[in-house]
Amino acid sequence: MPIKVLDPELASQIAAGEVVERPVSVVKELVENSLDAGATQITIEIKGGGVEQLRVVDNAEGIQADQVELAFQRHATSKLQHSDQLDCIGTLGFRGEAIPSIAAVSQMSLTTRPHDSRSGYQIQYRWGQKVSEGTQGCSPGTSVTVSDLFANLPARRKFLKSNSAEASRIRELIDRYALVYPEVQFRLMVDGRTSLTTPGAGKPEEALLAVYGPEVAAGMLAVQDEDPETGYRVSGFVSAPRLNRANRTYMTFFINRRWIQNRLLAFAVEEAYHGLLPERRYPLAALNLTLPYSEVDVNSHPAKREVRFHNESKVFSVLQRAVRAALIADSPVPELGRSAVGGQQSSYGGAGPSPGFFSSGLDRQRSGFSGRADNTRPASGESTDLGLTPGQALPTLRVVGQVRLTYIVAEGPDGMYLVDQHAAHERVLFDGIVRKAADHAPEIQSLLMPVTLEMTPSQMEVFQNNLTFLASYGFDVESFGENSYLLRAVPSVMTSSDPAQSLLDILDLVAFEGLVRQHDDVLAASIACHSAIRAGKPLTEPEMRALLEQLEATDNPHTCPHGRPTLIHFSEYQMDREFGRR
Ligand code: ADP
Ligand code: MG
Repeated sequence: MPIKVLDPELASQIAAGEVVERPVSVVKELVENSLDAGATQITIEIKGGGVEQLRVVDNAEGIQADQVELAFQRHATSKLQHSDQLDCIGTLGFRGEAIPSIAAVSQMSLTTRPHDSRSGYQIQYRWGQKVSEGTQGCSPGTSVTVSDLFANLPARRKFLKSNSAEASRIRELIDRYALVYPEVQFRLMVDGRTSLTTPGAGKPEEALLAVYGPEVAAGMLAVQDEDPETGYRVSGFVSAPRLNRANRTYMTFFINRRWIQNRLLAFAVEEAYHGLLPERRYPLAALNLTLPYSEVDVNSHPAKREVRFHNESKVFSVLQRAVRAALIADSPVPELGRSAVGGQQSSYGGAGPSPGFFSSGLDRQRSGFSGRADNTRPASGESTDLGLTPGQALPTLRVVGQVRLTYIVAEGPDGMYLVDQHAAHERVLFDGIVRKAADHAPEIQSLLMPVTLEMTPSQMEVFQNNLTFLASYGFDVESFGENSYLLRAVPSVMTSSDPAQSLLDILDLVAFEGLVRQHDDVLAASIACHSAIRAGKPLTEPEMRALLEQLEATDNPHTCPHGRPTLIHFSEYQMDREFGRR
């Protein structure tokens, strides 16, 4: 076939496909336009999954009558004037593509009236061609109606899911925006029924309540943190560990209040929950990161869904720390301290959000929490009032029981200890792996049948950079032709039924961890983490006793290899004080 330039109609349908994939992408673009224009109320109405019809109505600044047609031209935007502005985009839109793209694949009508105009203006398009325009009475703001989406592109229509599935994607989208724009009142109507209304009063906790209902909202923790070094800010909500989901869909990330998708950010959050969630369970999160516009490139994807960070590992660690701080602040100790000291109600576990519910994590953290136990070993020869003999960092503990299949309750000479079973086991395994490697005597478990390893390029890179470590910890891997390897033995701590997959998982862990930490022991920590018992595993009393004895024998029983606490101590004094005995 000869080469020829596509006719404009076909070219615009192709371009539209990048921006408008399904009804929810239309809603996203229109809602973003309303937000950019300063809306404080946005109503979204959908019929037939948004394919039959969808409408977005706002009370924003509107468009001057003589500018309306321009909005339908490709690359026409009021948001970007010079190329140097590309480095610091503060608006959600900037490509000038959404309106022409939607118009190319639907019947679209836009009615608008600036607040200072006496009348409005309406313009109608059908499959990219203008069919009518003229003055039209309407209230101030802009209303866009899109009907028969993709009716001129049967191939694309085939990719759509059922109406109810498309509608629920739209509901999820509005949920996400509502959480991060609490000052905007969102109303979503699905086939004439109200699906969601938010108050729009600027209170994040009210938006949370409207989106998730009282039960879930009560299980969410506020995140509010600022990194002193970079000034990056993190705000929003994450779920307390007891509230979790089977997939990652409930993790939402905004950068400068732009919704984006980013695997790294999800990993940072998961990492903060490390050991707190059962296997293959994920937290809920709605988080906004505020960073200088110049440190994030938003112009790397037509639908603006992806961004690039100038300092990716910084973003990762700031986010992870903020979430971790909220989780630590949620531990039971500060709640306990709070109710007695200030005579306040505990803000935990009520049916609905109590007044203290939205208090920031940092505020709670200050309330007498002594749990992050980095109190070091007593100097040798000194005796302590904790019943420690010199050289012992933990007193001997007696198992009382297991709570939420996650924590071991134990009694010591001075009160009660709550031990995180995963973190404790991780510490025990880690110490063992490192010690045996140093003695050149790793404990090895040979595989009955060697297995071939198929690695992705990033796994391969970690693998090749760590060959010596892998061998010293007990992996026996044999080269087998170019880029092919046979796994013959693994460290004996690894009890998984699929050792090859476990090794690949560990390489993935190291690849991500390597972004934030550059320690020699990342690999050992990853092996320990992968092999340690999970939260959610029932333990027998002898198992718990054995674990505590092993933990007592380690040099540093208070933290896991990642530096997080393995146990929290409630002193006798603290307990007595809580009950008014002192
Ligand atoms: P972009 O958002 O990238 O500028 P669009 O095609 O989405 O491109 O919109 C084109 C222009 O139309 C915008 O720059 C803006 O000036 C105007 N516009 C679109 N929607 C609205 C709205 N709801 N209120 C006011 N102006 C709007
Ligand atoms: Mg836009």
